[in-house]
Amino acid sequence: MGIRSWGIDPSWTLFLDRDGVINRRIFGGYVRNFSEFHFQEGVCDALKKAKHCFARIIIVTNQQGVAKGIMTASELSELHEAMQTEIMRAGGKIDAVFAAVEWAEEQPSRRKPSPAMGLEAKALFPEINFEKAIMIGDTDNDLAFGQALSMKTVLIKSEEKVNRIPDEIVSSLYDLIQQV
Ligand SMILES: [Mg+2]
Repeated sequence: MGIRSWGIDPSWTLFLDRDGVINRRIFGGYVRNFSEFHFQEGVCDALKKAKHCFARIIIVTNQQGVAKGIMTASELSELHEAMQTEIMRAGGKIDAVFAAVEWAEEQPSRRKPSPAMGLEAKALFPEINFEKAIMIGDTDNDLAFGQALSMKTVLIKSEEKVNRIPDEIVSSLYDLIQQV
């Protein structure tokens, strides 16, 4: 049962965290450029299949490294362009990437767990229905973001300690997409 009981059809939206979902997460650090960006196993295949299963596929990512001066906003944009090019080359797609680059302490905040980036996605694609949307991530902030918008939430298991209860737990994006 689980994911197969949700009634997912091609009108649904898939929201993805980036680090730990699309690419290998650097614990305690930041992916600063594409040479430090390594796709998780099976992600490009999963996104190729996901393209046919979802109306929109959207990345929402907290990237405080920009506020910290570890990378510039334009370096982050270049990284995301290179990532999207590679995903498209493999037959997949990402409709939009939203990145929160401010300090964690800054208020009001666009950073997850705030639902701000989800609302920005809906402003861009008004047909998005959060009750027909999935948020997949590897941290409490990702689950809180999805739950604040009444999405289904899926946790990717990692060494990160998580307190919130997701609707489902999987080992990878590939694992989730195999169940859709
Ligand atoms: Mg993450």
